[in-house]
Amino acid sequence: MITFLSGGTGTPKLIRGARRHLPDTGISVVVNTAEDLWISGGHLSPDIDTLLYLFSGILNTGTWWGIQGDTFRTHDELLRLGIDEYIGIGDQDRAIQIARGDLLNSGHTLTGATRILSGRLGIAAQVLPMTDQQVATLIRTGGRVIHYQEYWVKHRGSIPIEEVIRYAPTGPQATTEVLSAIEASDMVIIGPSNPVTSILPILECEGIVPALMDAFVIAVSPFIGDAPVSGPAGALMRARGLSPDSRSCEILYHDLIDLFVQDIRDPVDVPGSLKLDTLMTGEEQSASLAKVLLASTRS
Ligand code: GDP
Repeated sequence: MITFLSGGTGTPKLIRGARRHLPDTGISVVVNTAEDLWISGGHLSPDIDTLLYLFSGILNTGTWWGIQGDTFRTHDELLRLGIDEYIGIGDQDRAIQIARGDLLNSGHTLTGATRILSGRLGIAAQVLPMTDQQVATLIRTGGRVIHYQEYWVKHRGSIPIEEVIRYAPTGPQATTEVLSAIEASDMVIIGPSNPVTSILPILECEGIVPALMDAFVIAVSPFIGDAPVSGPAGALMRARGLSPDSRSCEILYHDLIDLFVQDIRDPVDVPGSLKLDTLMTGEEQSASLAKVLLASTRS
């Protein structure tokens, strides 16, 4: 069994490649839920949805969110009715969010709801929310606090970040399913996801760090030089007082990992790192990277 810690873009790209070498029954994914949001009556869990759509073969791999060929009739109509639905939710995508919202409202945990949806979508991999408790990444900007989705999707990351806040009123604790998956794994891969908004929320769940200390853990950097391959990870690292590069990323994960992988083009010196081609511009590149990672051993 291999367990990935994942956000919604970089690590799913790697998982797509790993599926060439492993059956889905041998894959567990611990997924960030700090970007979740109730919106227009449904429960949006963007990173979980990307994994559900990836494993069920319907993901839009042009954007790494949403469903291939989805339509946006409801979204367009909501905008026409004056509803500020600032995230473009597709019609089929919305059905998943309504179904998840219904399951949560009828008493299921997020883990339970995800298991049910996985079953209905015919998914054999284990898609595991990092926690069943509420967690949100919030951004302080211009003296007010907004949800990370509002910062990234509504404002397209164009406003200054004064502080990154993790809101977790009752926890968060990792679920027993997550801890069991890590314990049962031959290898845990922290994929090239955004450290501040995707991986740290997972590491902050009680129980995760001790579980990882006992596991064989590989991390892949999402940075090349002084910038991420894509997205707002640079600004978020700076807001945490960290430089947006592989060295800072390695320092964040240092105590947990056995091997750190940075891109072959990355000029930043990270002592002891393994340099590989980590640019997953297509499925073949993802599969090649995954093959090398999966062949790694503790020695
Ligand atoms: P999010 O939930 O959409 O923010 O997605 P993730 O956190 O899973 O991934 C975002 C990170 O993936 C960004 O910081 C990118 O730099 C990184 N990323 C995207 N594509 C690649 C790639 O092909 N190679 C590497 N090394 N990193 C990538």
